[in-house]
Amino acid sequence: MDQTERQEMQTDIAVAGFGPAAAGFLATIGPELAKTREDGTPLYESRVMPGCPLQVVCYERADDPGFGVSGIVTRGEAIKASFPGLDLAKEIPNAVEVKNEKLAYLFDGLGCSKRSFGTKMIDLAFKAGFFMKGGRWNARELPFIPSFMDKKPGLVLQMGSFMTWAAQKAMESGLMIMPGTPVAGPIFDGDRVAGLRLADQGVEKDGTPVEGAYMPGMDVKAALSVVADGPVGAVGRALDEKYGLPDGHHAYDWGLGMKAVVQLPEKCELEPGTVLHTMGFPEPEIFGFMYVYPNRTAALGIFVSPWMDTPVRTTYRYLQHWMMHPYIWRHIEGGRLLSWGAKSIAESGVEGEPILCGDGFARIGEGSGTTDCLANAGVDEAWASGVMLANAVLRLLREGRDFTKENLEATYVADRRASALDRRLRRASGARNGFNKSFFWGMVGEGLRGMLGIALPFRSVPPASRVPDLEKALKGRRCDREKLKAGVEAAEKARRPLHDAVMDACGWPPIPFDGALLMQHQDALLLGGKVQAAPGFADHVTFADPGLCRECSKHTCIEVCSAQALMPPDEPGGVPKFDREKCVHCGGCIWNCARLVPGTDHGNIVFRAGSGGLHSNEN
Ligand SMILES: Cc1cc2nc3c(=O)[nH]c(=O)nc-3n(C[C@H](O)[C@H](O)[C@H](O)COP(=O)(O)OP(=O)(O)OC[C@H]3O[C@@H](n4cnc5c(N)ncnc54)[C@H](O)[C@@H]3O)c2cc1C
Ligand code: SF4
Ligand code: SF4
Repeated sequence: MDQTERQEMQTDIAVAGFGPAAAGFLATIGPELAKTREDGTPLYESRVMPGCPLQVVCYERADDPGFGVSGIVTRGEAIKASFPGLDLAKEIPNAVEVKNEKLAYLFDGLGCSKRSFGTKMIDLAFKAGFFMKGGRWNARELPFIPSFMDKKPGLVLQMGSFMTWAAQKAMESGLMIMPGTPVAGPIFDGDRVAGLRLADQGVEKDGTPVEGAYMPGMDVKAALSVVADGPVGAVGRALDEKYGLPDGHHAYDWGLGMKAVVQLPEKCELEPGTVLHTMGFPEPEIFGFMYVYPNRTAALGIFVSPWMDTPVRTTYRYLQHWMMHPYIWRHIEGGRLLSWGAKSIAESGVEGEPILCGDGFARIGEGSGTTDCLANAGVDEAWASGVMLANAVLRLLREGRDFTKENLEATYVADRRASALDRRLRRASGARNGFNKSFFWGMVGEGLRGMLGIALPFRSVPPASRVPDLEKALKGRRCDREKLKAGVEAAEKARRPLHDAVMDACGWPPIPFDGALLMQHQDALLLGGKVQAAPGFADHVTFADPGLCRECSKHTCIEVCSAQALMPPDEPGGVPKFDREKCVHCGGCIWNCARLVPGTDHGNIVFRAGSGGLHSNEN
C-alpha cells in the first residue's frame, strides 16, 4: 500500500471527545449494547460487523481519558440517575458530598483593581453590612446561597478521578476509548456527516508531510458521529462553520478558567465538601472558586471574561493575587501546588446552542450549549445531554430507523426540548447580559434573572469588538506612568508580554514566589512535566489572516495565553510565535483575539485539532 494513502475504517457510532457529555452517552448506551438475546446474539447488532454488538469508538485528544481541567461542584442529578443504587461519593475516588457552600464578596485591600462608580457603590453597600454578614478577612459572606446557585445535595468531584472512573465504566461494557487521538474534523458527504477524520501525523508544524513519516489521519466512517468535543473543539467548530448557528443565537460570552490544585496545609480547617464562591477581586468581574476534596486537597480557580475590558488579561498572575486575598490565603498558606490548568467555558449557554443534529451527526455537551450560567455549572448538564442522545439512539436502533436529521430531531431534540435541563438553561439565558454593560449591571442582571426571571436588555457583542486599547483600559485606574513607560519598553525589547509591566505600574505587588505554592509561570508549566506535545502533528494554533496580526497593536492573544505558548514576534509588526510544546489547549486565544476577520463575527485564530496539552490526572 502507498504509504500516503488515507486508511478507512467502518464503525457504527464514532464519538469525538471524551468529556462529561461523552461519558454520559457511553454510560447509558454501553450496558444496553452489552445485552444479548436468549440465543446469545447481540440485542443491538452492528451493521459494519454483523453478528457483533453495535460498534462504538470514542476518540479523545488528550493522552489519557482523565486529563480534564475543571474543578467540579455539581448537583449531579443526571450523573446519579445513571447509577441508581450507587453512592457516588463513596464510589468515585476523591469525591465527596457538598457539605458547606458559601458565596463571598471580596474587597480590594490593595487598591489596584479598576472599580467603576457602580462597583464602588456595591463595595459600600457590602461594607456597610447590607446583604452580607461577617467582616473579617476583607470580605463579606452572603448569609444564604441563592437557590439558583445552590448545589446541595450535590457532589464535589475531581475531574481527573471522575473521568478515569467514567472511562473504566464505559470500557467495562465493551466500548472503546482511544486517548491521544485528535479528530481533525467531520467527513462531509454533501450535507450529511459521514464520519470523523483523525488528525494527520508525521507532518511539519505547517502540516507539510514529512517523507517517510507521513501518516494521513484515518477516515472513520460511521452511521452516526457524536460530537462531544467541548466548547472549542475542532469538530464542533467545523459544523458551526458549515451550518451556521440558528437565527438569533451567538457564542460571544466566554470565560477563561484557570485552576490550581493545592495540597492544603495541616492548619487548614475546611472540611471536605466545602465550596466557596467569590466575586469582587482581583478585578470585580473575576469570579473565584475553591472546592475542598478529601485527602487535604482543594481545587481553586478564577474566571476571566471578555467583558473585562483590557487588552492585558493575564489569568495566571490574577490567579495568584486571588489566592493571596486574605479570605482565601488563610486556608492555603503553607500549602503546595500540585497541579494547575486552564480551559475556556462557553458562557452563552442556550443562546449559543448550535444546530443540534443533522443527517449522520448529533451534538452533545458544552459545545451544544449546555452551560447553565446562573448556576455556573456544566458537568451534569453535559452528562444529561449525553444520556438523552443515548436514549434517542437506542430507540432509533430498536425501531430500525436511520440516524437522519428528521429522526434525530423527533427523538433527541424533542427529548431535550421537553427536559428539565432545557427549562433550566432557558431560565438562565441572558443572565450574563448585564456584564456586557458593567459589573454593576451584571450583578443586578444575574440577581434579577435568577430570582425574578427578568433579563436585562443589554446584548452581547463579539469579544474582538470590545477589546479596548491600553490607554482606554487604564482610564480611571491608578497607574504610575513613568513605571509603565519603562516597563513596557523593557518588555517590548525582551519580546515579552506586557501584562507584568502594566500590572506593576498599576500597583499590583510582586508575587512572593516560594517555589511551593506560588511559582513562576514557567515553573508551573513544568510542574511534573505536565505540558507535553506528541511529535509529528501540525501546529493547532494558526492565524486566518497573518496580515491582521501584522497590523494588530493589542496582541490580546499573547497577553491572555495561559501557558506562554503564544509570544510576541521576533520583530515588531510580525506574527505571534506559537510553541505547541507549551500549549494547554485552553482555547483562550480563540475568543481573545482583538481583530474580527472581515465579514465574520470571529477573531483571527484558527484552532485545529491537536494532541498533547496537560498531562495531569490531578485536576
Ligand atoms: C476552570 C473551570 C471550572 C469549572 N467548574 C465547574 C463546576 O464546578 N461545576 C460544573 O458543573 N462545571 C464546571 N465547569 C464547566 C465544565 O467543566 C464543562 O461544562 C464540562 O466539562 C463540559 O463537558 P463536555 O463533555 O461538554 O466538554 P469537555 O469537558 O470540554 O470535554 C470535551 C473533550 O473533548 C476533547 N476534544 C476536544 N477537541 C477534540 C478533538 N478535536 N478530538 C478529540 N477530542 C477532542 C477534549 O480534550 C475534552 O476532553 C468548569 C469549567 C472550567 C473551565
Ligand atoms: S491573533 Fe488576533 S490578537 Fe493576536 S496578534 Fe493576531 S490579530 Fe492580534
Ligand atoms: S495558545 Fe494554547 S495555551 Fe495559549 S491561549 Fe491558545 S490554546 Fe491556550
